[in-house]
Amino acid sequence: MRAGLWSMPRRNSRPMLGRTHLACGVLLCSLRFHGPAEVGACLFGSLLPDLDHPRSFIGGRLRPVSGFLYAIAGHRGAFHSLCALLIVVCGLWRLLPNDVSLALAAGFGLHLALDLLTQKGIPLLWPFSRARLGIGLIRTGGVADRLLGLLAFSYGFFVIGRHWVSVG
Ligand SMILES: [Zn+2]
Repeated sequence: MRAGLWSMPRRNSRPMLGRTHLACGVLLCSLRFHGPAEVGACLFGSLLPDLDHPRSFIGGRLRPVSGFLYAIAGHRGAFHSLCALLIVVCGLWRLLPNDVSLALAAGFGLHLALDLLTQKGIPLLWPFSRARLGIGLIRTGGVADRLLGLLAFSYGFFVIGRHWVSVG
């Protein structure tokens, strides 16, 4: 059934856990990005694609925008594609320093890569193909989803802690 304008997604239509995306964003930041602006951009980018879902971590905080995106494209529609990544990055490239744009792009790309692991998949090649690509390794909200988040958080904070110890 097509989503009507401003309609809410069904309760069982859930994005991958926001904390898993955030945890993997923390891990990516710990390995690659260090400045506050880069870290913030990377973490924001790791959540940004789920702005197309009003019940997601980021969509719930920006409800008018997420409701609009959900109504026009649905969850894991056009906003979960390489095309969306290109548009967002090209749009921000002139507004933000290059390293901050790169961090946001990396976070966005990481989000897409994680959603490719799920059963539902994403239309990565939209608008050239609407086929959903996904390897079905993770069920949204399932044990693997939660375990991945826990491991990413743990390892990310381990790397950050080791960095602080070596610096201070
Ligand atoms: Zn997503």
